[in-house]
Amino acid sequence: MFDADTLISQFIIDGRRRLATFERSLFHEKLRSPARDNYTKLFEEASQEALANCEKYLRKAKKCSAPASTVSSMQSHTGCWELGTAKTPRRINLLGVSDYLYRFISLTLTATLPYDGEVVRHLCNNRMCVRPDHLKIGSIGENKMDDILNGYAGGTDQDA
Ligand SMILES: [Zn+2]
Repeated sequence: MFDADTLISQFIIDGRRRLATFERSLFHEKLRSPARDNYTKLFEEASQEALANCEKYLRKAKKCSAPASTVSSMQSHTGCWELGTAKTPRRINLLGVSDYLYRFISLTLTATLPYDGEVVRHLCNNRMCVRPDHLKIGSIGENKMDDILNGYAGGTDQDA
């Protein structure tokens, strides 16, 4: 297993590569919203600063040891990286973007713009967690399904 510092460096390298190839989609003008515009500006004009913040908070997060339970999902075998509290997950304000930190990290490292009805899901069911491979971008419907299945994380699909 890699240690947290090595993993963080890899997450940042991957994020840098994705941000470097970020492009507005064909539907960009149709989907515009204030939040989307702010993230667009961040990705296009301040990607280094966005990445630096991801790295800073990922390094700062409390690294928890892996849970003992053996639920059959890859995520359950790695420990969460926590910031803030479950009631009030840590937020970030950066160059117009104001968001939950876990959401900011997930969107930035995948170079994904937010859209209506989209949520960043915690595969580990831990709202304090900011660990990128515990986060998955999905729809509100999927998030409700997560609550219903509570604890069952399903497959181990990797985001490309
Ligand atoms: Zn987690």
